Amino acid sequence: MAIISSKQESEPENQPPAPSRDRSNPPRVDLLQPQATDYEQGKQEDSIRPQRFADYIGQKDLKEVLDIAIKAAQARNETLDHLLLYGPPGLGKTTMALILAASMGVSCKITSAPAIESPRDIVGLLVSLKPGEILFIDEIHRLSRMAEEILYPAMEDYRVDITIGKGKGAKTRSIALQKFTLVGATTRAGSLSSPLRDRFGLVQRLRFYQPDELSQIILRTAQILQTEISDDGAAEIAVRSRGTPRIANRLLKRVRDYAQVKAAAAINATVASQALELFQVDPCGLDWTDRQMLSVMIEQFNGGPVGIETMAAATGEDTQTIEEVYEPYLMQIGYLQRTPRGRVVTASAYKHLGFKPPNEQLSLLQ
Ligand code: ADP
Repeated sequence: MAIISSKQESEPENQPPAPSRDRSNPPRVDLLQPQATDYEQGKQEDSIRPQRFADYIGQKDLKEVLDIAIKAAQARNETLDHLLLYGPPGLGKTTMALILAASMGVSCKITSAPAIESPRDIVGLLVSLKPGEILFIDEIHRLSRMAEEILYPAMEDYRVDITIGKGKGAKTRSIALQKFTLVGATTRAGSLSSPLRDRFGLVQRLRFYQPDELSQIILRTAQILQTEISDDGAAEIAVRSRGTPRIANRLLKRVRDYAQVKAAAAINATVASQALELFQVDPCGLDWTDRQMLSVMIEQFNGGPVGIETMAAATGEDTQTIEEVYEPYLMQIGYLQRTPRGRVVTASAYKHLGFKPPNEQLSLLQ
């Protein structure tokens, strides 16, 4: 499920020189990565995953749309329309698929596109579906062409066409499927082929969460983990969680360890901020890569515009990870803007990193 980040294969032109601030041997703060770790895909994680709409905090628009879709499907005694959920990792796409299944009283089979290696895998999955079941395919933009083509008639007419034999003697046989709902999840809606995208009746985007929503998520998780936490303690963790519930829950667990070792009775704002400082989680949730990227843009390129390749070279991340993981959050908090000529750092990012914004520098010179 993780986006594997790899170094640039070839050095792009215009590679920025090493930045001048003290950023040698930066500690990688994996605590802030939105992808699930192996541990987080385990059983223990299921206990904190909301099981019902009522526990799924935030995403008001999404919940309203799905609530109507569920009620309409139930009233007509039909299966739910195929649904495409898109947005950055860790925002609750898998969780929503499971809640949908629970609300419809069916089960949900979970897979991801990279796990579907051959046409046989996807055919096997489709024919094993029971009436009304939900098939959740994560990273659906990574499906092979062949798997996609098998999905088209499955989504439209609930059938798979398989070819038996080779050459002139080859025959196509259709197998009828049970009516099912496909829930596709992707971090890159733009990378989906249009025939596939067009076959989804509902296409919904998940948004980053507001700090008060993340606070509620943290308070709920703390209750499940039987950890005492004050409202201001939850708020302190929330603002550092990059708008992402998966990160909020992960930070809560690290702060809980810290509180336990330091014999703190409960997690309050002071304990949370001390712990997160120790783990080098920035008060705005920025990690080394964000800071490095913004600082290089400021120091070497006067704040931009800068191309994505340069940002990748400055951080050692690949362009896809920058576009899918780093940029969306930086844009959301207003630290980065995308312009037709490249990315530009905003005045608030200058201030956050301790630089003077360009307009203030100008007024000093006047
Ligand atoms: P995605 O599939 O988008 O990567 P997940 O559905 O796996 O994200 O969500 C990651 C974790 O965040 C879940 O295990 C769940 O505990 C928590 N979570 C996600 N969305 C919500 C929400 N709306 N309310 C409460 N917890 C949430």
